[in-house]
Amino acid sequence: MRNGAVTRRLGIMGGTFDPIHHGHLVAASEVAHHFELDEVVFVPTGQPWQKADKTVSAAEDRYLMTVIATASNPRFSVSRVDIDRPGPTFTIDTLRDIRDVYGPDVELYFITGADALAQILSWRDADELFRIAHFVGCTRPGHTLHDPGLPDGMISLTEIPALAISSSECRERVRAGQPIWYLVPDGIVQYIGKRGLYSARGEIADSGE
Ligand code: ATP
Ligand code: MG
Repeated sequence: MRNGAVTRRLGIMGGTFDPIHHGHLVAASEVAHHFELDEVVFVPTGQPWQKADKTVSAAEDRYLMTVIATASNPRFSVSRVDIDRPGPTFTIDTLRDIRDVYGPDVELYFITGADALAQILSWRDADELFRIAHFVGCTRPGHTLHDPGLPDGMISLTEIPALAISSSECRERVRAGQPIWYLVPDGIVQYIGKRGLYSARGEIADSGE
C-alpha cells in the first residue's frame, strides 16, 4: 500500500505488438513493480505513422494477440482506443483517450523503449505529452539513450533484465521456419500458426482477403 496515495497509477504500454513478445511483458511487469502501478493498459497502435512504409499485420490480429498474452495477469488489460480511432496513431491522442476512459484522477505512466524515447522530442505536441503523463524509458539490449535534450524530471529510465527480443526478429524467425517458442507466450505461437501470420503461406492467404 502506498503512503497516503489516493490516485490510481496507470501504466500505458503502446506498441505495434506484431507480435507481442516476452520483452514487452517483462518491461510492463518491471515498470509496474518499480512504480507501484495499479494496472498496465496495453494499447496496440492503429496505423503506426513511424512504420507507414512497412507492412503491419491487421489491427484485429495484433489486438487479439495482445489480449491472449495479457489475459492471465489481473493487472494487465488491453485498450482498443488506438485501433478504433481512424487514421495514424499519435501518442497524444492515446493519452487523451485513455484519460477520458479512466477519468482525471489517474496518474499516467507511459512506458516505452529507450530506442523510441530517443525520438520523443520529435513527437507531435511533446510539451502536452509531458504534462499529461510521466514517461518511463526501458533500456533494452543494444540501445543506449543518446539524446541529451530530454527535459529533466519528466522521464525515468528503468533497466529491464536483458531480453534481446524484438517483434522484427520473431517475424523473421517465422518467415525462416525457425521456432519462436519461449520468445513469445505459448498462445501467441499457436495464434500465429493458426492465422498463418508472417509466413509465405500467410502472405498468400492475406493477399486474397
Ligand atoms: P519491431 O521490431 O517491429 O520494431 P518491437 O519489438 O520494437 O517491434 P513494438 O511493438 O515496436 O515492438 O514495441 C512496443 C514498445 O515496447 C516500444 O516502446 C519498444 O521500444 C518496447 N520494447 C520492445 N521490445 C522490448 C524489449 N525486448 N525490452 C524492453 N522494451 C521493449
Ligand atoms: Mg520497435
